[in-house]
Amino acid sequence: MQDSILKGKKILIVEDDLSSRLYLNKILEKTEAILLNAGDGKEAVELVEKDPEIELILMDIQLPVMDGYTSARKIRELRKEVKLIAQTAYSFSDDMEDMAASGFDDFLIKPIYSGQLIEKLSSYYENI
Ligand SMILES: [Mg+2]
Repeated sequence: MQDSILKGKKILIVEDDLSSRLYLNKILEKTEAILLNAGDGKEAVELVEKDPEIELILMDIQLPVMDGYTSARKIRELRKEVKLIAQTAYSFSDDMEDMAASGFDDFLIKPIYSGQLIEKLSSYYENI
């Protein structure tokens, strides 16, 4: 297999549902990206504070402790350049407005498929 453009990139997966988290890890392991995981929004903010090498964040919206919108806003205050991608079960326009207002760059609607996920994350590097 050709080297993935995501190889060595640090990606943070924020997901409270364990089976979803394992599923996303399994997909992204193939790219040889460096994968970090957080189970709630507060943990995600703390990881971003500690690790300036995180480049991409794939964040669930419905999260315990701190929801995805609040977490995204805090992360955006800390890091202007990080790519923030929401993963959501919803596709209504009000949610999209909330996502944009919270600092998300983009979103994926669940269920998320392997090819779609890798293509979306890779696109941030292909356009540079
Ligand atoms: Mg959730």
